[in-house]
Amino acid sequence: FRHGEPSEVWVDTPNGAVAFGEHHPVVLVAGPCSVENEEMIVETAKAVKSSGAKFLRGGAYKPRTSPYSFQGHGESALELLAAAREASGLGIITEVMDTADVEKIAEVADVLQVGARNMQNFALLKKVGAQNKPVLLKRGMSATIEEWIMAAEYILAAGNPNVILCERGIRTFDRRYTRNTLDLSVIPVLRTLTHLPIMIDPSHGTGKSEYVPAMAMGAIATGTDSLMIEVHPNPAKAWSDGAQSLTPARFKELVQELGVIAKPL
Ligand code: PEP
Ligand code: MN
Repeated sequence: FRHGEPSEVWVDTPNGAVAFGEHHPVVLVAGPCSVENEEMIVETAKAVKSSGAKFLRGGAYKPRTSPYSFQGHGESALELLAAAREASGLGIITEVMDTADVEKIAEVADVLQVGARNMQNFALLKKVGAQNKPVLLKRGMSATIEEWIMAAEYILAAGNPNVILCERGIRTFDRRYTRNTLDLSVIPVLRTLTHLPIMIDPSHGTGKSEYVPAMAMGAIATGTDSLMIEVHPNPAKAWSDGAQSLTPARFKELVQELGVIAKPL
């Protein structure tokens, strides 16, 4: 893979183009794990926008461990994301799980997310590689850095140069106190291996909202280009990942705390 100048991934949003990359300000992506209803997604979008987020995240199609857990509202959630985009001006990042859904999701999403569980779904990688939309590629929970970079190569090789790599925690022997082990060492390591922009997701990385701020700080200190943080208006009632979700008020505080060491805007 290539070395040299860091690449920039520019994403069009209703509020203008936003750049991900080493020479740009840290981009904040925030929102609930799942899109639950119009009120909560629009409310969350407006709140995180006012705190400085540039993108709203929210799952319409959810990769749940149990088939009996909420699977996402699917197509109707895409409409709600479109409404939130319109109401807030934020760009939309949402997950694609199936090659059959890619075009439909690309009509609403500004960035297509490939989740940890699909990092090596090669058919999906080739399909998003053929789209005209940037791709957020999460690290598989048991993927080596080389496997992750090669997965990104699939997207690049298919003709899409706009890939952002997102570390979201890996499986280690100790999962008693955290859901995953957030591997912040990927930041300096990836800098030597790839030109692609880096995002850190301390929400899935820790699984616990009380640990998210410290790891977000750590990611900024280590040089991340972007952060993805789960935010829910009422975490205790969230349909998925409530335990790791910040309230909008806590997110606002966190952004202020991060401002101390964030790259200048
Ligand atoms: C998510 O972003 O809600 C998600 C399911 O993430 P991951 O693929 O990292 O588990
Ligand atoms: Mn989640």
